[in-house]
Amino acid sequence: MSPEQRRAAVYLRISQDRENTRLGVDRHREDAEALIAARRWTPVGVYEDNDISGKGHKKRPAFERLLKDIEAGHIDVVVAQEWPRLERNRADGVRIIEAAQRHHVLLTFAKGSDIDCTTAAGRLSADMFSAIARNEIEVKAERQSRAQRQRAQQGRPPKGVRPLGYATNGDVIKHEAEAVKKIYGAFSSGSSLRAIAAALSGSEGKDLPALPTLPRHNRTLMIERNARRSEEGLEPRPVPNDDPWVPSTVMGILRNPRYAGYSTYTPKEVLANGDRRRSWRAQILRDDHGEPILGQWDSIVDLAMWEAVQDRLDDPARITNRVGTDRKHLGSGLYRCGVCDKPVKAHGQRYRCAGHVVRSREQIDDFVVEVVRRRLALPDLHDLLPSADEPRLQEIKEEINEHRARIHRAQRDYDDELIEGFDLKRIRDRENAAIDTLEVERLRLSLGSSHTSVLGQRDPAAAFEAGDLGVRRSTIGALCTVRLYPHPRGMKSFNPDSVSIMWR
Ligand SMILES: [Zn+2]
Repeated sequence: MSPEQRRAAVYLRISQDRENTRLGVDRHREDAEALIAARRWTPVGVYEDNDISGKGHKKRPAFERLLKDIEAGHIDVVVAQEWPRLERNRADGVRIIEAAQRHHVLLTFAKGSDIDCTTAAGRLSADMFSAIARNEIEVKAERQSRAQRQRAQQGRPPKGVRPLGYATNGDVIKHEAEAVKKIYGAFSSGSSLRAIAAALSGSEGKDLPALPTLPRHNRTLMIERNARRSEEGLEPRPVPNDDPWVPSTVMGILRNPRYAGYSTYTPKEVLANGDRRRSWRAQILRDDHGEPILGQWDSIVDLAMWEAVQDRLDDPARITNRVGTDRKHLGSGLYRCGVCDKPVKAHGQRYRCAGHVVRSREQIDDFVVEVVRRRLALPDLHDLLPSADEPRLQEIKEEINEHRARIHRAQRDYDDELIEGFDLKRIRDRENAAIDTLEVERLRLSLGSSHTSVLGQRDPAAAFEAGDLGVRRSTIGALCTVRLYPHPRGMKSFNPDSVSIMWR
């Protein structure tokens, strides 16, 4: 190949180190072009990356384009100032050397010796280089993950991105911790992830829990990072928009064991599976006796609360809207039919139990809310509530699981054509009714002890009034049973006797 047939590309990179300003890069470019002219190669383009521009620090678009053009066979020579400028990190170094080997490309530098992949001997030394570099990368990764694990075993706060509520050194950030506490409180008293996300974003609505308004955490983090960058004299990076919170972020907060004081470590395999959130419990680091290791930081929520929240998140029924989740109406599934005692369903503007009762939703809800609010305002509220009964709570959990298992078995039998659709429906209705009853008992028991619920507030009536739909539903469920009776025909005004509210 004559020199003129060799197509030479120039690679330039403006990097963060101080001498490497625009001026420096212009000089690199002149050097490279002089080299190409002296060797009589044909210039085919300049690839320039700007590491200090705001594009995430991992991306090098021009470098990627250069690799692609090498793979496409458009380039015979790459000219750069020096190897570190082209390599930047070991992983990219390996990529460009391997591409150069495949396509017999010469990598040449204004400072330092060439990597000549146009000859067999050159390719061999490139081989050795990439083998060494690969090994270096692996050793480094292993060392890092060992160090992370060790930190966690000592209960020291993990390095890296700080979670909402904690500074990087593990100190509690008060106003954020307060928000975390309230997020746990809202979820465990029945608010949905969506309602919590909306409230954090500052949306208003009487069905939303009372939470402080916060910018999304990744926005806060970027603003903090930029403050550090500006102290170091570096350009700021773009800050994410002030978009609303999303339910999955709320879920991440509710799942994080650090808030309960557990030290965590995420093995690489877990990260690779992308199943981080579902396996939060598996990330709790344990000692030789299987006991969880506690971090040296202060917990933000207590262990019992954290565990209860995990149970609720794990509950497959949560997705299908049972007590306390994303129900749209106050009384559906909660109020009972006065004739047959089954839970009523919302039907348009009404609550209905087919063939038995049809009642105006608004009228009933207004009445029930008012009665409960007044009841909560009475001073003897605590007599109404049982104290927390841990063994019973455990029993309830097991009983609910048994009922769920029966539904699953029936489902399987139906799939195997052992039972008819009619039988499946009958079993499902029966088991769900039993679960409903247990759920209400569980709510009642746990509400009595929970400080975050309406009943633990100094002014329960006000807390109930301010509560979102989920909070109101679980409070009603904890305090009373509401039964709806048919409204006497012809009677125009609302007859309170047609609704029975039985206090527990
Ligand atoms: Zn009925």
